[in-house]
Amino acid sequence: MTEVTVTDVQHKAETILAEHGLCDHCLGRQFARLGFGLENWERGLIVRDRLDRGKDLDEESFVRDNIPDEEPGREGCGLCDGLFVELDRYVNRVLNALDRYQFDTFLIGCRPPAEVVEAEEALWEEVGIQWVEPIKSEVNRLIGKQIEEQLEVTVDFERPDINAIMDIGKDRVEMQVNSIFIYGKYNKYSRDLPQTRWPCGNCRGKGCDDCDWTGKQYQESVEELVAEPFLRAAKAVETKFHGAGREDVDAKCLGKREFVLELVEPEMRNLDPQELADKVNEMYGDRVEVFDMQFTDRHKVEEVKSRRADKTYRALVQLTDSVSDEQLERLDQIEGTVKQATPTRVEHRRADRVRERTVHSVDWERVDEDRFELTVAAEAGTYIKELISGDAEKTRPSVSQLLGTEAECIELDVIGIEY
Ligand SMILES: [Zn+2]
Ligand SMILES: [Zn+2]
Repeated sequence: MTEVTVTDVQHKAETILAEHGLCDHCLGRQFARLGFGLENWERGLIVRDRLDRGKDLDEESFVRDNIPDEEPGREGCGLCDGLFVELDRYVNRVLNALDRYQFDTFLIGCRPPAEVVEAEEALWEEVGIQWVEPIKSEVNRLIGKQIEEQLEVTVDFERPDINAIMDIGKDRVEMQVNSIFIYGKYNKYSRDLPQTRWPCGNCRGKGCDDCDWTGKQYQESVEELVAEPFLRAAKAVETKFHGAGREDVDAKCLGKREFVLELVEPEMRNLDPQELADKVNEMYGDRVEVFDMQFTDRHKVEEVKSRRADKTYRALVQLTDSVSDEQLERLDQIEGTVKQATPTRVEHRRADRVRERTVHSVDWERVDEDRFELTVAAEAGTYIKELISGDAEKTRPSVSQLLGTEAECIELDVIGIEY
Protein backbone atom coordinates (compact mmCIF):
# COMPACT_ATOMS: atom_id res chain seq x y z
CA MET A 1 0.00 0.00 0.00
CA THR A 2 1.44 3.38 -0.94
CA GLU A 3 1.01 5.67 1.98
CA VAL A 4 -0.19 9.11 1.01
CA THR A 5 -0.29 11.28 4.09
CA VAL A 6 -2.49 14.34 4.00
CA THR A 7 -1.50 16.08 7.20
CA ASP A 8 -3.88 18.97 7.18
CA VAL A 9 -7.22 18.15 8.83
CA GLN A 10 -9.30 20.48 6.71
CA HIS A 11 -7.67 19.43 3.47
CA LYS A 12 -8.19 15.77 4.27
CA ALA A 13 -11.84 16.34 5.23
CA GLU A 14 -12.57 18.31 2.07
CA THR A 15 -10.96 15.65 -0.11
CA ILE A 16 -13.00 12.91 1.53
CA LEU A 17 -16.28 14.78 1.30
CA ALA A 18 -15.71 15.83 -2.31
CA GLU A 19 -14.91 12.31 -3.49
CA HIS A 20 -16.90 10.05 -1.14
CA GLY A 21 -20.29 10.40 0.44
CA LEU A 22 -19.28 8.86 3.72
CA CYS A 23 -21.67 8.35 6.63
CA ASP A 24 -20.93 10.06 9.96
CA HIS A 25 -19.31 6.95 11.43
CA CYS A 26 -16.98 6.44 8.47
CA LEU A 27 -16.16 10.13 8.12
CA GLY A 28 -15.42 10.53 11.83
CA ARG A 29 -13.33 7.34 11.88
CA GLN A 30 -10.76 8.99 9.59
CA PHE A 31 -10.14 11.45 12.48
CA ALA A 32 -10.52 8.97 15.34
CA ARG A 33 -7.30 9.95 17.11
CA LEU A 34 -8.31 13.58 17.41
CA GLY A 35 -10.19 14.70 20.51
CA PHE A 36 -11.03 12.68 23.63
CA GLY A 37 -14.17 10.96 24.78
CA LEU A 38 -15.94 11.30 21.44
CA GLU A 39 -17.51 8.64 19.28
CA ASN A 40 -16.57 8.61 15.62
CA TRP A 41 -20.06 9.60 14.51
CA GLU A 42 -19.72 12.70 16.71
CA ARG A 43 -16.43 13.52 14.99
CA GLY A 44 -18.19 13.02 11.68
CA LEU A 45 -20.90 15.51 12.67
CA ILE A 46 -18.28 18.07 13.71
CA VAL A 47 -16.42 17.79 10.39
CA ARG A 48 -19.57 18.14 8.30
CA ASP A 49 -20.98 20.97 10.38
CA ARG A 50 -17.82 23.07 10.34
CA LEU A 51 -17.21 22.69 6.63
CA ASP A 52 -20.89 23.41 5.85
CA ARG A 53 -20.77 26.62 7.81
CA GLY A 54 -17.38 27.68 6.44
CA LYS A 55 -15.66 27.40 9.82
CA ASP A 56 -12.04 26.38 10.42
CA LEU A 57 -11.37 22.70 11.00
CA ASP A 58 -8.17 21.64 12.74
CA GLU A 59 -6.89 19.29 15.43
CA GLU A 60 -8.47 21.45 18.13
CA SER A 61 -11.95 21.30 16.58
CA PHE A 62 -12.77 17.86 18.01
CA VAL A 63 -14.37 18.86 21.29
CA ARG A 64 -17.82 18.16 22.68
CA ASP A 65 -18.93 21.80 22.39
CA ASN A 66 -18.55 21.62 18.62
CA ILE A 67 -20.97 18.72 18.16
CA PRO A 68 -24.01 20.12 16.33
CA ASP A 69 -27.39 19.39 17.80
CA GLU A 70 -28.48 16.71 15.37
CA GLU A 71 -28.81 12.96 15.12
CA PRO A 72 -26.19 11.03 13.16
CA GLY A 73 -27.20 9.88 9.69
CA ARG A 74 -28.24 6.24 9.98
CA GLU A 75 -28.28 5.27 6.33
CA GLY A 76 -24.71 3.97 6.02
CA CYS A 77 -22.41 4.54 3.07
CA GLY A 78 -20.44 2.85 0.32
CA LEU A 79 -17.56 2.25 2.72
CA CYS A 80 -19.31 0.50 5.59
CA ASP A 81 -22.12 -0.94 3.45
CA GLY A 82 -24.67 -0.07 6.15
CA LEU A 83 -22.83 -2.02 8.83
CA PHE A 84 -23.55 0.54 11.55
CA VAL A 85 -27.26 0.52 10.73
CA GLU A 86 -27.25 -3.18 11.63
CA LEU A 87 -25.29 -2.74 14.83
CA ASP A 88 -28.19 -3.47 17.19
CA ARG A 89 -28.83 -6.71 15.38
CA TYR A 90 -25.20 -7.77 15.87
CA VAL A 91 -25.42 -6.85 19.53
CA ASN A 92 -28.47 -9.10 19.86
CA ARG A 93 -26.72 -11.94 18.07
CA VAL A 94 -23.84 -11.69 20.56
CA LEU A 95 -26.22 -11.41 23.52
CA ASN A 96 -27.98 -14.59 22.39
CA ALA A 97 -24.71 -16.45 22.06
CA LEU A 98 -23.58 -15.34 25.51
CA ASP A 99 -26.92 -16.11 27.11
CA ARG A 100 -26.16 -19.51 28.62
CA TYR A 101 -22.80 -18.52 30.10
CA GLN A 102 -21.94 -17.09 33.47
CA PHE A 103 -19.04 -14.61 33.12
CA ASP A 104 -17.65 -11.35 34.44
CA THR A 105 -15.23 -10.37 31.71
CA PHE A 106 -15.34 -10.68 27.94
CA LEU A 107 -13.78 -9.41 24.74
CA ILE A 108 -15.52 -8.75 21.44
CA GLY A 109 -13.89 -9.30 18.09
CA CYS A 110 -15.42 -8.94 14.67
CA ARG A 111 -14.71 -9.95 11.12
CA PRO A 112 -16.05 -7.31 8.70
CA PRO A 113 -16.86 -8.52 5.18
CA ALA A 114 -13.83 -8.57 2.86
CA GLU A 115 -15.35 -5.88 0.57
CA VAL A 116 -15.57 -3.48 3.50
CA VAL A 117 -11.94 -4.05 4.50
CA GLU A 118 -10.83 -3.58 0.88
CA ALA A 119 -12.84 -0.37 0.50
CA GLU A 120 -11.29 0.94 3.71
CA GLU A 121 -7.77 0.18 2.53
CA ALA A 122 -8.44 1.86 -0.80
CA LEU A 123 -9.61 4.99 1.00
CA TRP A 124 -6.54 5.04 3.25
CA GLU A 125 -4.33 4.76 0.22
CA GLU A 126 -6.02 7.82 -1.19
CA VAL A 127 -6.27 10.09 1.86
CA GLY A 128 -3.62 8.73 4.21
CA ILE A 129 -3.76 6.83 7.46
CA GLN A 130 -3.08 9.70 9.84
CA TRP A 131 -5.63 9.77 12.72
CA VAL A 132 -7.60 6.78 11.41
CA GLU A 133 -9.08 3.86 13.31
CA PRO A 134 -9.87 0.60 11.47
CA ILE A 135 -13.57 -0.13 11.09
CA LYS A 136 -13.02 -3.39 12.92
CA SER A 137 -11.97 -1.70 16.13
CA GLU A 138 -14.87 0.76 16.03
CA VAL A 139 -17.37 -2.08 15.64
CA ASN A 140 -15.70 -4.07 18.44
CA ARG A 141 -15.85 -1.08 20.73
CA LEU A 142 -19.47 -0.23 20.00
CA ILE A 143 -20.70 -3.79 20.44
CA GLY A 144 -18.55 -4.22 23.57
CA LYS A 145 -19.93 -1.06 25.11
CA GLN A 146 -23.53 -2.19 24.68
CA ILE A 147 -22.79 -5.62 26.10
CA GLU A 148 -21.10 -4.02 29.11
CA GLU A 149 -24.12 -1.83 29.73
CA GLN A 150 -26.77 -4.50 29.22
CA LEU A 151 -25.13 -7.34 31.14
CA GLU A 152 -23.07 -5.42 33.71
CA VAL A 153 -19.89 -7.19 32.68
CA THR A 154 -16.46 -5.80 31.81
CA VAL A 155 -14.30 -5.83 28.70
CA ASP A 156 -10.94 -7.40 29.51
CA PHE A 157 -8.16 -7.35 26.91
CA GLU A 158 -5.78 -9.54 28.91
CA ARG A 159 -7.67 -12.53 30.23
CA PRO A 160 -11.38 -12.45 29.44
CA ASP A 161 -13.68 -15.27 30.52
CA ILE A 162 -15.18 -15.31 27.02
CA ASN A 163 -14.12 -14.10 23.57
CA ALA A 164 -17.04 -13.56 21.21
CA ILE A 165 -16.24 -12.99 17.54
CA MET A 166 -18.97 -11.54 15.36
CA ASP A 167 -18.45 -12.73 11.81
CA ILE A 168 -20.39 -10.06 9.97
CA GLY A 169 -20.12 -11.60 6.51
CA LYS A 170 -21.42 -14.96 7.72
CA ASP A 171 -23.78 -13.33 10.22
CA ARG A 172 -22.82 -15.64 13.05
CA VAL A 173 -21.01 -15.50 16.38
CA GLU A 174 -18.00 -17.65 17.18
CA MET A 175 -17.43 -18.20 20.86
CA GLN A 176 -14.25 -18.99 22.68
CA VAL A 177 -15.07 -19.80 26.28
CA ASN A 178 -11.87 -19.80 28.28
CA SER A 179 -11.11 -22.53 30.78
CA ILE A 180 -11.36 -22.25 34.53
CA PHE A 181 -8.19 -23.32 36.34
CA ILE A 182 -8.29 -24.71 39.85
CA TYR A 183 -5.18 -25.47 41.84
CA GLY A 184 -5.00 -28.15 44.50
CA LYS A 185 -3.04 -31.03 46.01
CA TYR A 186 -4.02 -34.68 46.24
CA ASN A 187 -3.26 -37.85 48.09
CA LYS A 188 -4.01 -41.19 46.47
CA TYR A 189 -4.88 -44.12 48.73
CA SER A 190 -5.52 -46.76 46.07
CA ARG A 191 -3.01 -49.11 44.42
CA ASP A 192 -5.22 -49.50 41.41
CA LEU A 193 -5.77 -45.96 40.21
CA PRO A 194 -4.00 -44.08 37.42
CA GLN A 195 -3.62 -40.32 37.71
CA THR A 196 -5.41 -39.51 34.46
CA ARG A 197 -7.97 -41.20 32.21
CA TRP A 198 -6.43 -44.32 30.73
CA PRO A 199 -7.91 -45.49 27.43
CA CYS A 200 -8.35 -49.21 26.79
CA GLY A 201 -5.18 -50.63 25.21
CA ASN A 202 -7.20 -52.84 22.89
CA CYS A 203 -9.71 -50.42 21.37
CA ARG A 204 -7.93 -47.15 22.25
CA GLY A 205 -11.08 -45.66 23.72
CA LYS A 206 -13.72 -46.67 21.20
CA GLY A 207 -15.18 -49.41 23.36
CA CYS A 208 -14.81 -53.21 23.00
CA ASP A 209 -15.58 -56.48 24.79
CA ASP A 210 -12.27 -56.31 26.70
CA CYS A 211 -13.20 -53.07 28.44
CA ASP A 212 -16.92 -53.75 28.74
CA TRP A 213 -17.51 -51.03 26.19
CA THR A 214 -16.23 -48.32 28.49
CA GLY A 215 -13.20 -47.55 26.31
CA LYS A 216 -11.11 -47.47 29.47
CA GLN A 217 -8.33 -49.65 30.85
CA TYR A 218 -9.05 -48.46 34.38
CA GLN A 219 -12.61 -47.49 35.21
CA GLU A 220 -11.52 -44.63 37.43
CA SER A 221 -8.62 -42.21 37.74
CA VAL A 222 -7.60 -39.45 40.13
CA GLU A 223 -8.57 -37.01 37.40
CA GLU A 224 -12.09 -38.38 36.98
CA LEU A 225 -12.82 -38.63 40.69
CA VAL A 226 -11.54 -35.13 41.44
CA ALA A 227 -13.15 -33.61 38.36
CA GLU A 228 -16.63 -35.07 38.76
CA PRO A 229 -18.27 -32.52 41.11
CA PHE A 230 -16.45 -29.65 39.35
CA LEU A 231 -17.47 -30.82 35.89
CA ARG A 232 -21.06 -31.05 37.00
CA ALA A 233 -21.16 -27.67 38.79
CA ALA A 234 -19.41 -25.83 35.96
CA LYS A 235 -21.30 -27.66 33.19
CA ALA A 236 -17.95 -27.91 31.45
CA VAL A 237 -17.40 -29.83 28.22
CA GLU A 238 -14.43 -31.76 29.61
CA THR A 239 -11.55 -31.52 32.05
CA LYS A 240 -7.78 -31.64 31.80
CA PHE A 241 -5.60 -32.68 34.68
CA HIS A 242 -2.14 -31.13 34.97
CA GLY A 243 -0.17 -32.94 37.67
CA ALA A 244 3.23 -32.08 39.17
CA GLY A 245 4.57 -35.41 37.94
CA ARG A 246 2.75 -38.65 38.62
CA GLU A 247 3.14 -41.82 40.64
CA ASP A 248 2.69 -45.28 39.18
CA VAL A 249 -0.83 -46.71 38.98
CA ASP A 250 -0.01 -49.12 41.83
CA ALA A 251 1.75 -46.57 44.05
CA LYS A 252 -0.01 -44.63 46.76
CA CYS A 253 0.74 -40.95 47.17
CA LEU A 254 0.66 -39.59 50.70
CA GLY A 255 2.82 -36.53 50.04
CA LYS A 256 0.13 -34.16 48.72
CA ARG A 257 0.97 -33.84 45.04
CA GLU A 258 0.18 -30.53 43.36
CA PHE A 259 -2.07 -30.31 40.33
CA VAL A 260 -4.16 -27.91 38.30
CA LEU A 261 -7.63 -29.01 37.21
CA GLU A 262 -8.72 -27.32 33.99
CA LEU A 263 -12.45 -27.07 33.27
CA VAL A 264 -12.87 -26.67 29.53
CA GLU A 265 -15.67 -24.45 28.16
CA PRO A 266 -17.58 -24.00 31.41
CA GLU A 267 -21.06 -22.52 31.38
CA MET A 268 -20.92 -21.71 35.08
CA ARG A 269 -18.08 -19.84 36.73
CA ASN A 270 -19.35 -18.90 40.16
CA LEU A 271 -18.06 -22.04 41.80
CA ASP A 272 -16.95 -22.65 45.36
CA PRO A 273 -13.76 -24.75 45.04
CA GLN A 274 -13.63 -25.58 48.73
CA GLU A 275 -17.22 -26.80 48.80
CA LEU A 276 -16.63 -28.94 45.69
CA ALA A 277 -13.40 -30.28 47.18
CA ASP A 278 -15.40 -31.36 50.24
CA LYS A 279 -17.72 -33.28 47.90
CA VAL A 280 -14.76 -35.09 46.31
CA ASN A 281 -13.52 -36.07 49.75
CA GLU A 282 -16.96 -37.19 50.93
CA MET A 283 -17.67 -39.32 47.88
CA TYR A 284 -14.24 -40.72 47.03
CA GLY A 285 -12.20 -40.10 50.19
CA ASP A 286 -11.19 -43.77 50.45
CA ARG A 287 -9.33 -43.49 47.15
CA VAL A 288 -8.45 -39.80 46.72
CA GLU A 289 -8.28 -36.82 49.03
CA VAL A 290 -7.81 -33.24 47.85
CA PHE A 291 -6.46 -30.23 49.72
CA ASP A 292 -6.20 -26.44 49.37
CA MET A 293 -8.34 -26.19 46.25
CA GLN A 294 -8.60 -22.64 44.92
CA PHE A 295 -8.95 -20.65 41.70
CA THR A 296 -5.77 -19.98 39.79
CA ASP A 297 -4.90 -19.06 36.19
CA ARG A 298 -3.39 -20.64 33.10
CA HIS A 299 0.18 -19.74 34.14
CA LYS A 300 -0.01 -22.08 37.10
CA VAL A 301 -0.17 -25.10 34.74
CA GLU A 302 3.40 -24.62 33.51
CA GLU A 303 4.61 -23.79 37.00
CA VAL A 304 3.14 -26.98 38.45
CA LYS A 305 4.19 -29.20 35.53
CA SER A 306 7.77 -28.00 35.58
CA ARG A 307 8.12 -28.48 39.33
CA ARG A 308 11.01 -30.84 40.10
CA ALA A 309 10.46 -31.80 43.68
CA ASP A 310 12.60 -34.20 45.70
CA LYS A 311 10.51 -36.99 47.16
CA THR A 312 10.54 -39.49 49.96
CA TYR A 313 9.28 -43.02 49.27
CA ARG A 314 8.38 -45.99 51.34
CA ALA A 315 8.92 -49.28 49.51
CA LEU A 316 8.18 -52.85 50.56
CA VAL A 317 11.00 -54.98 49.18
CA GLN A 318 10.81 -58.73 48.55
CA LEU A 319 14.09 -60.62 48.23
CA THR A 320 14.68 -64.01 46.62
CA ASP A 321 17.11 -65.07 49.38
CA SER A 322 17.17 -64.27 53.09
CA VAL A 323 19.71 -61.68 54.16
CA SER A 324 21.50 -60.92 57.40
CA ASP A 325 21.49 -57.58 59.21
CA GLU A 326 25.15 -57.12 58.16
CA GLN A 327 24.11 -57.43 54.55
CA LEU A 328 21.36 -54.86 55.04
CA GLU A 329 23.96 -52.41 56.42
CA ARG A 330 25.43 -52.26 52.92
CA LEU A 331 22.35 -50.38 51.75
CA ASP A 332 24.04 -47.22 53.12
CA GLN A 333 26.11 -47.28 49.94
CA ILE A 334 23.07 -46.28 47.88
CA GLU A 335 23.27 -42.78 49.31
CA GLY A 336 24.99 -40.44 46.88
CA THR A 337 24.94 -40.61 43.11
CA VAL A 338 23.14 -43.37 41.23
CA LYS A 339 23.28 -43.93 37.49
CA GLN A 340 20.06 -44.96 35.82
CA ALA A 341 19.67 -45.91 32.18
CA THR A 342 16.12 -45.52 30.90
CA PRO A 343 14.10 -48.28 32.58
CA THR A 344 12.94 -51.18 30.44
CA ARG A 345 9.29 -50.49 31.36
CA VAL A 346 9.34 -46.91 30.01
CA GLU A 347 11.74 -47.42 27.09
CA HIS A 348 8.94 -47.10 24.56
CA ARG A 349 8.12 -43.53 25.60
CA ARG A 350 11.42 -42.11 26.92
CA ALA A 351 14.70 -41.44 25.13
CA ASP A 352 17.31 -44.01 26.07
CA ARG A 353 20.05 -42.33 28.08
CA VAL A 354 21.84 -42.57 31.41
CA ARG A 355 20.70 -40.14 34.12
CA GLU A 356 22.54 -39.33 37.32
CA ARG A 357 20.36 -38.84 40.36
CA THR A 358 21.16 -38.13 43.99
CA VAL A 359 19.82 -40.35 46.74
CA HIS A 360 19.76 -38.19 49.85
CA SER A 361 19.09 -40.86 52.45
CA VAL A 362 18.03 -44.48 52.94
CA ASP A 363 16.64 -46.26 55.94
CA TRP A 364 15.30 -49.78 56.37
CA GLU A 365 13.24 -51.86 58.74
CA ARG A 366 13.17 -55.62 58.56
CA VAL A 367 9.75 -57.21 58.10
CA ASP A 368 10.87 -60.81 57.56
CA GLU A 369 13.99 -62.80 56.69
CA ASP A 370 13.58 -61.97 53.04
CA ARG A 371 11.47 -58.84 53.24
CA PHE A 372 12.04 -55.29 54.48
CA GLU A 373 10.66 -51.80 54.29
CA LEU A 374 12.90 -49.24 52.63
CA THR A 375 12.55 -45.48 53.08
CA VAL A 376 14.35 -43.47 50.38
CA ALA A 377 14.65 -39.71 49.97
CA ALA A 378 15.77 -38.96 46.42
CA GLU A 379 16.09 -36.31 43.80
CA ALA A 380 13.18 -35.60 41.44
CA GLY A 381 13.04 -38.14 38.63
CA THR A 382 14.73 -41.06 40.40
CA TYR A 383 13.24 -44.41 39.36
CA ILE A 384 12.64 -46.17 42.67
CA LYS A 385 11.46 -49.58 41.40
CA GLU A 386 14.67 -49.82 39.36
CA LEU A 387 16.78 -48.55 42.25
CA ILE A 388 15.58 -51.68 44.06
CA SER A 389 15.64 -54.31 41.28
CA GLY A 390 18.65 -52.92 39.43
CA ASP A 391 16.69 -53.42 36.18
CA ALA A 392 19.27 -55.89 34.75
CA GLU A 393 22.11 -53.62 35.92
CA LYS A 394 20.73 -50.60 34.11
CA THR A 395 20.60 -48.88 37.51
CA ARG A 396 23.79 -48.86 39.62
CA PRO A 397 24.16 -49.19 42.49
CA SER A 398 20.93 -50.95 43.39
CA VAL A 399 19.46 -52.81 46.35
CA SER A 400 19.73 -56.09 44.44
CA GLN A 401 23.38 -55.52 43.53
CA LEU A 402 24.38 -54.55 47.08
CA LEU A 403 22.57 -57.47 48.72
CA GLY A 404 23.62 -60.02 46.11
CA THR A 405 20.11 -61.36 45.58
CA GLU A 406 17.13 -60.46 43.43
CA ALA A 407 15.05 -57.67 44.94
CA GLU A 408 11.59 -56.56 43.93
CA CYS A 409 9.54 -53.55 44.99
CA ILE A 410 6.11 -55.00 45.80
CA GLU A 411 4.56 -51.84 47.27
CA LEU A 412 5.49 -48.23 46.73
CA ASP A 413 4.19 -45.09 48.41
CA VAL A 414 5.20 -41.49 47.92
CA ILE A 415 5.23 -40.26 51.51
CA GLY A 416 6.76 -36.84 51.13
CA ILE A 417 7.11 -34.22 48.40
CA GLU A 418 9.50 -31.32 49.01
CA TYR A 419 8.12 -28.16 47.43
ZN1 LIG B 1 -20.26 4.36 6.56
ZN1 LIG C 1 -11.68 -51.50 24.84
